[in-house]
Amino acid sequence: MVKTLKDAYDVIVVGSGLAGMTAANILGKTGHSVLLLERHYKLGGLATTFARTGGHLFDISLHGFPVGMVKSCRRYWNAEIADRIVQLRRIRFDNPQFSLETTFSREDFTRLLVEKFGVAEPTVVAFFDKARNMSHYDDQQLSTRELFDEFFPGREDVIRLLMEPITYANGSTLEDPALTYGIVFSNFMSKGVFTFQGGTDLLIRLMRRELEKNGVDVALSSPCERICIESRKVVGVLVGGAVGGVVDKGRLIRSKAVLSNANLKGTILQLAGEESFAPEFVAETKAVRLNNSSTQVYIALKPGEQLDGDRCGDLLFTSTAPAFRTELLLNRSITSRTYSFYYPSVRPDAPKQADRYYVVASTNANYHDWADLSPADYGASKRELMESTLDHLDRYVPNVREKTAHIEAATPVTFRRYTDHWGGASFGTKYEGLAVSRQLHQQIPGLFHSGSVGIIMSGWLGAVNYGVIAANDVDAFLLETR
Ligand SMILES: Cc1cc2nc3c(=O)[nH]c(=O)nc-3n(C[C@H](O)[C@H](O)[C@H](O)COP(=O)(O)OP(=O)(O)OC[C@H]3O[C@@H](n4cnc5c(N)ncnc54)[C@H](O)[C@@H]3O)c2cc1C
Repeated sequence: MVKTLKDAYDVIVVGSGLAGMTAANILGKTGHSVLLLERHYKLGGLATTFARTGGHLFDISLHGFPVGMVKSCRRYWNAEIADRIVQLRRIRFDNPQFSLETTFSREDFTRLLVEKFGVAEPTVVAFFDKARNMSHYDDQQLSTRELFDEFFPGREDVIRLLMEPITYANGSTLEDPALTYGIVFSNFMSKGVFTFQGGTDLLIRLMRRELEKNGVDVALSSPCERICIESRKVVGVLVGGAVGGVVDKGRLIRSKAVLSNANLKGTILQLAGEESFAPEFVAETKAVRLNNSSTQVYIALKPGEQLDGDRCGDLLFTSTAPAFRTELLLNRSITSRTYSFYYPSVRPDAPKQADRYYVVASTNANYHDWADLSPADYGASKRELMESTLDHLDRYVPNVREKTAHIEAATPVTFRRYTDHWGGASFGTKYEGLAVSRQLHQQIPGLFHSGSVGIIMSGWLGAVNYGVIAANDVDAFLLETR
């Protein structure tokens, strides 16, 4: 970490989520002077871990990502990172309509749809092809519901199989444009679901090493308080916090470009300030809908207690609702939970984790269902969330209460506190946020945004890839203004 910050950089990246870090890495490698500012004391944003007394280690968002991450990491990070990406083989579904296990590849899904669900193979092939060939130039009026009705009319069970994991993966709904579903579904469906062997902590350590190798100055606990704009041009940022133990309150660091990885609405309406933009752009920004948030329950088994891999799998999509309904996924009265099961094989190089098994239960959630509670009700709701999760988990991990060494929960309020995402959004904004994010630079030369917007630019792969796109934009701008 840097001890002292320079007075000026070519570009300042605000936020060290996967998009911010990837952009900073590319820009550093290209030869630009780069400062990466992070308000938290850790790099990674939502790609993070936390440790608890007793040697427990929990991953927040390491549940699964598409195979494309291998190529992106090899090209924009390094081979060491890319080589640690491995497939999750046991993806399970358990709900009143069906119970099954799949490798989540196109081949295996086709087999299931034909053999178990009785869909004609040409229909399955046509659906996969249509989803795979969708692009931004397509009709954006077609909703995901309409897409399913075209291929699988009246088949709520098929819709559930195809939709539930994607809703979990990025909060998309049947009412969102089919395009957003098609692209994400095809990304996952090409080869299956992947994970990072070694855990998120190792990934972030390796990324940090690469950032430093490429000359990026990294400043933690250093919030950007303001993106400074003069005569409609970026001039730098005001940075607060303690850098190298020295408290800097509101110091101006100059730069030709600023790339914000903070929440899109927060970037425009707070960090840059709405007075910096044309009124129509401000109105468009305010109309952007936030994506939903999440709850998570983290459970560490007592050392020596094990999970039954045949019963649990790696990733388990469960629901007690009779049919798939988007509004049920967000409801406070939880019917759908996705479990990630972590075995010692997740961290094969960590001897202290050799007998550790963890479960992380995730649900989608509405921010205001949690943020508007009184402190007493909030505490009680968190306890209820943990208790009901243990009750439900018992069917997959018998006697889980007796086996549990540590349990705690995160809510939308927790996600907001750690990332400052408006509404504690787990996946940034809805699809319309992408156009706003892409227009920033036309509004204010030198100002760029990258990070979870829309469904396609969210999740680990989406964030990394959007970081690449934004880095190219910044690079072109810096070359022009040289
Ligand atoms: C519960 C949960 C589970 C998930 N599971 C998966 C999964 O299984 N697979 C998957 O692919 N994706 C998953 N995701 C989503 C994925 O983690 C995110 O889409 C991705 O990590 C977001 O990256 P990002 O670059 O947009 O930035 P973020 O991770 O949102 O990070 C933004 C960073 O900016 C910093 N920041 C904000 N404001 C400032 C400021 N003013 N100054 C300095 N720094 C600032 C924040 O502190 C933060 O570090 C999950 C998310 C959640 C919440």
